Amino acid sequence: MRYQGREVDIEGRVRLVMESALTARDRVGVQDFVLLENYHSEAAFIANLRRRFGENLIYTYIGSVLVSVNPYKELEIYSKQQMERYRGVSFYEISPHIYALSDNTYRAMRTERKDQCILISGESGAGKTEASKKILLYYAVTCPTNDQMAALGERLLQSNPILEAFGNAKTFRNDNSSRFGKYMDVQFDFRGAPVGGHILNYLLEKCRVVHQNQGERNFHIFYQLLDGGDDDMLTTLGLERNPQSYQYLVKGNCPRLSSVSDKNNWKVVMKALSVIGFTEEEVQKLLNIIASVLHLGNTQFGEGEEGETYITSGTQITNLTKLLGVDGSALGEALTHKKLTAKGEEMITPLSFEQAVSARDALAKAVYGRTFTWLVEKINQSLALKEEIYHSGKGCSVIGLLDIYGFEVLQHNSFEQFCINYCNEKLQQLFIELTLRSEQEEYETEGIAWETVQYFDNKIICDLIEEKHKGIISILDEECLRPGETCDVSFLEKLEDTLGGHPHFVTHKLANGKTRRVMSREEFRLLHYAGEVNYNVNGFLDKNNDLLNRNLKEVMCQSDNQILSHCFRREEAIDQKRPEMAATQFKNSLTKLMEILMSKEPSYVRCIKPNDAKQPGRFDEVLVRHQVKYLGLMENLRVRRAGFAYRRRFEAFLQRYKPLCPETWPNWHGRLSDGVSTLVSHLGYKAEEYKLGRSKIFIRFPKTLFNTEDALEA
Ligand code: ATP
Ligand code: MG
Repeated sequence: MRYQGREVDIEGRVRLVMESALTARDRVGVQDFVLLENYHSEAAFIANLRRRFGENLIYTYIGSVLVSVNPYKELEIYSKQQMERYRGVSFYEISPHIYALSDNTYRAMRTERKDQCILISGESGAGKTEASKKILLYYAVTCPTNDQMAALGERLLQSNPILEAFGNAKTFRNDNSSRFGKYMDVQFDFRGAPVGGHILNYLLEKCRVVHQNQGERNFHIFYQLLDGGDDDMLTTLGLERNPQSYQYLVKGNCPRLSSVSDKNNWKVVMKALSVIGFTEEEVQKLLNIIASVLHLGNTQFGEGEEGETYITSGTQITNLTKLLGVDGSALGEALTHKKLTAKGEEMITPLSFEQAVSARDALAKAVYGRTFTWLVEKINQSLALKEEIYHSGKGCSVIGLLDIYGFEVLQHNSFEQFCINYCNEKLQQLFIELTLRSEQEEYETEGIAWETVQYFDNKIICDLIEEKHKGIISILDEECLRPGETCDVSFLEKLEDTLGGHPHFVTHKLANGKTRRVMSREEFRLLHYAGEVNYNVNGFLDKNNDLLNRNLKEVMCQSDNQILSHCFRREEAIDQKRPEMAATQFKNSLTKLMEILMSKEPSYVRCIKPNDAKQPGRFDEVLVRHQVKYLGLMENLRVRRAGFAYRRRFEAFLQRYKPLCPETWPNWHGRLSDGVSTLVSHLGYKAEEYKLGRSKIFIRFPKTLFNTEDALEA
């Protein structure tokens, strides 16, 4: 028999092909989970992931979703040559890669003229931020540019080290953990060149500024400044080099990191600030603020005989006065007294020792948090689309990148974990909605019947958290606003009264009036889609209130540091109206985020962390299984397989497999669908194995495609 012009011994060839394909597949697993024979089996799923991980193949698809396992080592797969390999190449015809997903998204944006977004999820340390940086780099390197655009590309890339310095920290789980959520739009012009960018930031973990757990650190920038700033700079800022001298840095007892050099990163950040366009004066003001946070931490209080509180560390106030550019005595007064207005009259009342400490910490958190927001605004100005492009009428398209905190379960879960996990519930809703919807839509437009897959709809948990009047956030707000004695425990009681009996809400109280021993009286448990989490209510009210005493606001808005006077507006100090509380603000920003994401075509990167020791080569099955579960990967696979394992446009299918059929090889001149029909009947596909839609062939079983692929490889 002749095959592609060669004489072949069919039996021998088939045997060889089967053997080599089998060994290859045994060794490296399948590159798309939809090709797994036993796709219901979690064990088979994990075995495939493990097999590939062992071969340094960290990427695997579930259809168009990219699953990525953190290798915890540098792999030689991100070079410019690799980028070239993936440019313009169809998704399935080359090994899975973050570049393939980046390229595919880019081409979809160009050809379908529809805005895209890439949602990157996974738990802390799973590799979300690294993935988002690789995507951005891919666009900066491979998209068409001129000098002006190359400069924009550089600014897009340089925004990362700045935001990481101010928004990332070493945690127990990740030496470079993002402590804020980030959504970044990259705007492309009609030629497909990157021309602008915009960042939205979500809920910075401000409490880290004043407190860190053992083994954790404050935000990187503090250590970078102390290690990298020159002697003169530190003297001007009134700082010593040793981080352990600062109360806001000593708590974690972890001043140095083995994995990164603060000194080098300091240089990187300073360069990035200049590339983005921060003036020297702005950088100086920024450093003044960073230093003043450290001085605030070292501002100590004493308690007088009459119970009055006073500041014991005069030098700190001198430093603060200079660095914050405020009136020293007014600051001292505002740190130890509170201004109240009662019946139209202003009253000054002294703060207790504890109240003064909280007022100081609240100021440090507010100063740092607002400066972070200012930084994002400045970066956005630098990345903003030029007016002439915006008004050119030629239109821009957008690819959004979402790198946001993953589901978090710590030993002690507080308000921050509650917000983070709520965010993940919302993203899961979006995933369900968009994955199922798009899958269903595709079958409909192609005229193919399909069977529905059962999945857990987590809307019930979203409602539990966010519903008006009855949801946890509403109850929390109400408790914060209620006059009289309210505290974290009274909030918990309110939750019990309103939500007791809800299938996803549990406290120590049992329905029969007895007590659940294993739960503390300060906790409530939510049964999240991803698992159970106990939240300790301590601090919920304060964190939600996020209050700064009015006299501290007054002092800050008079600062002659322009960053601070921008961040603390005079109107805010005068305005008696209460601003939205933290959880409600977060809820509203998430609602807006969901709208943004819904208006775009989504792609997914699901990141998995292979071990807790941050080590290469270790694959902890229990840990991975948990992530596979809560990332919904098995459901995702089932949905993908519910109808047909594989689908491909007629032209792509014909192009790839036409050598296998003498009638389609080398050129098929008839209709594409007839060509595909001829090809599959030549290949012996049975009627139940495939369906032809309007523009695509749908293949039901992976084996069918496997055999075809094997024949091609031969
Ligand atoms: P968090 O939610 O805490 O911000 P994350 O998911 O963003 O976590 P990353 O910071 O991206 O996690 O990754 C943690 C670390 O894992 C990185 O600092 C890096 O050392 C390593 N890492 C992640 N992805 C890769 C990769 N593709 N190649 C090599 N190392 C990686
Ligand atoms: Mg991160």
